Amino acid sequence: MRRAYLLAAAMLLAVACSRPTKSSLPSPSGAADANNDPSPGQSDGADASTDPSSPGQSDAADAGADPTPSVPLSPLPGELYYVQLGLSGLALGEAAIIVGPDGKIVLVDVGNDSHADDLHAAIDATIDAMNAAGFVPRQHGVIDDIILTHHHADHTNGLAQLLELVQVSGRVIHRGYYDVGAVDASTFESSCAALAARPSLELALCSGAARAPCATGSWQGTYPVTSCSPEVADALLSFGAEAGIHIFALNGIIDGQPYGTLPTDTHGENARSMVALVRRGDFRLLLGGDLTGGGSSTPPVEGFFAPYLGSAAGIDILGVDVLHAGHHGRKTSSSQPWIDALLPRDGRSRNAIMGVSEGHVNSPHDEVLEILLSASRLREGFAWTTLVALFGSRSAGLIDAEGGSVVLRTHLAGKMYDIQAVSRGGAVITAQRYPSVHAGQ
Ligand SMILES: [Zn+2]
Repeated sequence: MRRAYLLAAAMLLAVACSRPTKSSLPSPSGAADANNDPSPGQSDGADASTDPSSPGQSDAADAGADPTPSVPLSPLPGELYYVQLGLSGLALGEAAIIVGPDGKIVLVDVGNDSHADDLHAAIDATIDAMNAAGFVPRQHGVIDDIILTHHHADHTNGLAQLLELVQVSGRVIHRGYYDVGAVDASTFESSCAALAARPSLELALCSGAARAPCATGSWQGTYPVTSCSPEVADALLSFGAEAGIHIFALNGIIDGQPYGTLPTDTHGENARSMVALVRRGDFRLLLGGDLTGGGSSTPPVEGFFAPYLGSAAGIDILGVDVLHAGHHGRKTSSSQPWIDALLPRDGRSRNAIMGVSEGHVNSPHDEVLEILLSASRLREGFAWTTLVALFGSRSAGLIDAEGGSVVLRTHLAGKMYDIQAVSRGGAVITAQRYPSVHAGQ
């Protein structure tokens, strides 16, 4: 019943967010794309003419590094580990596990309620690997913190079930139960009730005159936010020297500057997504939830935020090494000013990661692959996706984990990083190594 409902919701999302288009995209190395030309009316990207499992070998050699690993990366003391999980089933969902160099475990989003078992298994597998790698021994089923980027089902609806399976020793960090006009009601009710039963876990980064009650039927108005203080999470999310997660924008506010009125449709909640910079030494990864950029008539919050990236997060003209491309690779995110600021076209290699589940029909969008992969922007880097969903686009330069995971780990304390697509069965599909763009600067 739930699955059928979610599939229907996914199809509606797909219809609402996508227009069939097709374009040829050059590979990062400039080679011509060999896509077939689909018949008119065919959805964007049903072709599979390119072979993403064997991209050109690249920076491993010219960086003078060790060969890329052929076994799945696992957490290592002193290094940052990030895995964008492939969540199975038809329910929409996105989640990532971060292990800090100090052994702290942070979840970024928790998928849907049908994904709680998957997350629990992934957490325990991560803890097994950490114990084998020599971290201070950890118990199964215990993590440090959870970050919920926004109140939509595919990111937050799994919280209540997960908290029955997993113990959080730190906090569950979210934007707050304010500005509720665009939240997913059942997700809001279940996560709000789960945290009301565990008040010591909750860390809301925004506040207002009145907080929305958990029972959405009793709402009167939208319970406006008056201010946000993302910096209060910094100490909690520190991984020690030169490493941590810095949440620096949310609810349409960056550096104290509000975007302005946001819509009350589903895009309005995406527009309120948290944005965070994850660092280890020279390495930088940017997370932005489903932050909107203007595509499909969404509010262009990415472009509003872009000029503040330096003052709010210390992001300079070199941008970041890896960008989590927002909203599951859909064209509502990854706007030109956002991509230009974070993945500048300066001849250096960078990468993008997308979290796509089977229900994210049409993801990734052609427009997103084009902006990421055209004109050699990523140089020897790639766009990595956990999955190409039904009718999702493919291109030379896109690496598909086929429902598995995209795994990243820094090397030499962040001077370099390895990134892999790992199949559901645990086989490494593709592995690459890159120097961090700030290394040696
Ligand atoms: Zn989403």
